[in-house]
Amino acid sequence: MSPSPIFSSDISGGLFFINGKRTTITENSGTFDVLEPRIGKVVAKSPIASASQVDEVARLAAASQSAWSSQTALERGKILRKVAELIRENLEEIARLEVLTNGKPIYEARCDIASSADTFDFFAGIATAALQGDNLELPGGPSQRICYTTREPFGVVGLIGAWNYPFQTCVWKVAPALAAGNAVVYKPSPFAPASPVLLGEILTSAGLPNGVYNVVQGEGETGIAICEHPLISKVSFTGSVASGQAVQRQSSTKNVKPVTLELGGKSELIIFDDSNLESAVAAAMLANFLNQGQVCTNATRVFVQRGILEKFTEAVVNEANLKLKVGDPLLDDTRVGANINEGHLNRILGYIESAKQEGGKVLRGGVRVHPTGVENGFYLDPAIIVGLNDESKAVREEIFGAVMLILPFETEDEVVARANNTTYGLAAGVFSGNLARGHRVAAKLQAGTVFVNTYNDTEVNVPFGGFKNSGHGRENCVDTLRAYTQIKAVYVNVQDTLEHCF
Ligand code: NAD
Repeated sequence: MSPSPIFSSDISGGLFFINGKRTTITENSGTFDVLEPRIGKVVAKSPIASASQVDEVARLAAASQSAWSSQTALERGKILRKVAELIRENLEEIARLEVLTNGKPIYEARCDIASSADTFDFFAGIATAALQGDNLELPGGPSQRICYTTREPFGVVGLIGAWNYPFQTCVWKVAPALAAGNAVVYKPSPFAPASPVLLGEILTSAGLPNGVYNVVQGEGETGIAICEHPLISKVSFTGSVASGQAVQRQSSTKNVKPVTLELGGKSELIIFDDSNLESAVAAAMLANFLNQGQVCTNATRVFVQRGILEKFTEAVVNEANLKLKVGDPLLDDTRVGANINEGHLNRILGYIESAKQEGGKVLRGGVRVHPTGVENGFYLDPAIIVGLNDESKAVREEIFGAVMLILPFETEDEVVARANNTTYGLAAGVFSGNLARGHRVAAKLQAGTVFVNTYNDTEVNVPFGGFKNSGHGRENCVDTLRAYTQIKAVYVNVQDTLEHCF
């Protein structure tokens, strides 16, 4: 007999998660369409949570939080390790649902889900040690006064996610928030709303007390209600720069909240002419074509030194022609799945059109395709474009799609200046056979992550986040866990009397 499922395989209904259960709410603020990008079909309508419905959930979370935070970090960690175990046991089905929600190829979804299990293990494992306070030395020494610090959770945290990594983005925020003893109100993107509900069911099965983790659905208005809610004491947000700026403003209107912002990017991959050609081509593929190019760290600006330009361009076009199989994302050999929706696909096509008008030449792809069996989904044959200058729209703005732009350069100083000439600062890559140059250029690039002779590595213990307009705060590391706590300093006078100036 197969075990009873711990979650419902339904990406369309009951997309709220409140008080430990998948549920829905009375619709009084309208609905949004739930879309399956793979087949291009609306599969349901979800109610949008109003400010008063967010208020009810925030109150429930606040009432549930103290029992959770009064457990030791070790006890909380046991439940979070169980979550990791359940994710691994159900990996294939979770990955399948992630494909239906987001349209990404199943081989990528499996990696996202496996790494999400690791994220729970990581934060569960480090919580006890990383959340310890300090004993601080004071003038006069411990016979007069002592001071110690404790790390306390904020209480209720408001977490708002994007749609490109629906399960993983949620886990990157929820695992450290819970490990630190907070309760959560999570709002997914309406473009990919199901994954956090699935996570809720897994959390309940693992033993998380009811009310500690909650999911509300909606668009910007629901996000605003989270940012402004007085019982919510911290916000972590992943999304575009424009929304991030709004989130930062909104999060100080009713009470002052610390805000973590994981925002957009316009990253660069710099390939010097002494690079290993095969590896540089592989890195350019990794930097542009994972997840249909809908990756915040993607390096659409591929700067290639003149001496290797022709060989590199020919090799990367050949590799793309050979490897980029666009097709049904549920098939194992598909490497390029569906974009998130028609509007987004048209936006990417608009960038390709603008590139052509500004003198760009499309060497491959760049058109909508209709793979057999999933003809109505939102598929793009990935584009490689040459002939643009740094001022063109496609080179300046975040495309968030599978569009690689090859830009020639002559010297190291020139390319560093051009690479840094952007308001973004999420990631950067440098390829060279000379490691001294690799380190030197890495030091000069203004980005939160720099990849040397590799691209788009992501490990749970390594800080992830941006410089400049790409945001502030980090995910995926010890600092992230601590950022879900506030430090309290306690001074204790251990003398019989208090020395004073009055
Ligand atoms: P988006 O900004 O449109 O939406 C993100 C989330 O914010 C959604 O849940 C949306 O409903 C919500 N939202 C919109 N307005 C809001 C407001 N005023 N207050 C509160 N919430 C609000 O972004 P998107 O299209 O979902 O995601 C794509 C963007 O996200 C790209 O720019 C991409 O680079 C970025 N991104 C960054 C990272 C990172 O870690 N740095 C990761 C993934 C995506």
